[in-house]
Amino acid sequence: MMQFQYERAKSVKAAISGLANSSNARFIAGGTNLIDLMKRNITAPTRLVDINKVPLKDIQQQNGKTVIGALALNSQVADHKLIIEKHPLLSQALNAGASAQIRNMATVGGNIMQRTRCHYFYDTALPCNKRDPGVGCGALEGLNRMHAVFGASEQCIAVHPSDMCVALVALDATVLVAGPKGERRIPFEEFHRLPGNQPEKDNTLQNDEMIISVEIPDNGFSKNSYYMKVRDRASYAFALVSVAAALSMDGKVIKDARLAMGGVAHKPWRLKEAEKALVGEPATEKTFWQAAEIAMQGAKAYKYNAFKLKLGPNVVVEALNNAAGPM
Ligand code: SF4
Repeated sequence: MMQFQYERAKSVKAAISGLANSSNARFIAGGTNLIDLMKRNITAPTRLVDINKVPLKDIQQQNGKTVIGALALNSQVADHKLIIEKHPLLSQALNAGASAQIRNMATVGGNIMQRTRCHYFYDTALPCNKRDPGVGCGALEGLNRMHAVFGASEQCIAVHPSDMCVALVALDATVLVAGPKGERRIPFEEFHRLPGNQPEKDNTLQNDEMIISVEIPDNGFSKNSYYMKVRDRASYAFALVSVAAALSMDGKVIKDARLAMGGVAHKPWRLKEAEKALVGEPATEKTFWQAAEIAMQGAKAYKYNAFKLKLGPNVVVEALNNAAGPM
């Protein structure tokens, strides 16, 4: 049986000091991923710091940005009036994730920190560099239908599983974190990392830091945005490919654009070159296909996921069509 200490923190300060003097302590809130990882012997924290009582659940407007507390539940964020009005893309992405039951437990911070759903990672009988660095990657020559087509390495070809994070990277969100040395802000695009030679590291958060909130700057994308997710089942399935598309329109011309893809990389995959190709162009199918082609530049398939190279551009075009609305 796995032994661990358990303690409750009621403030950010207490939570951060709960991590001190232990390289293997973990925060627990909704537990929708961590408990699975513990039950399957993938991770074995020596101390769990329960942060559910830390007051970080608020969702509010502050100085030109929407601030979402790290402990706000996924369902609360998806249904919040402010989010539906100002950032419907985020609401749609959240509702596309997991199941209603999980969204009622899972927190924003936990969603950001969740680990890949690569089957080799979860089966301790199979090799996985992310779980046991240096043992090899079972997926590289194995069943890699769900895996990355962008930014992978010979060490790991896993994808980040979150829908919410795809919308957040598209919306230029920032993650506010706190640690013993104080607070710092990490642009969402820099929060998660590519696997490189250290696939065991999912993100740039330090071991002694805690996510406090996510901040989304005000933008002109509330009227024309769409999150499209293609998956094997209509519910409770991870994305094969998903696209977060947001447009700011001046009549029929695209004034500004945001585009990101999920299910294709070790991190939520922002498509900045494709965004540039949209700006100043009419919102037509032709424009969207040009952007989709640019979006897929540099993609590389493995044995069982070549379908993503065709699915990807189709989802980009469909998401943009839906974001633009009837023209
Ligand atoms: Fe492990 Fe990554 Fe390979 Fe999956 S893709 S087996 S997570 S190293």
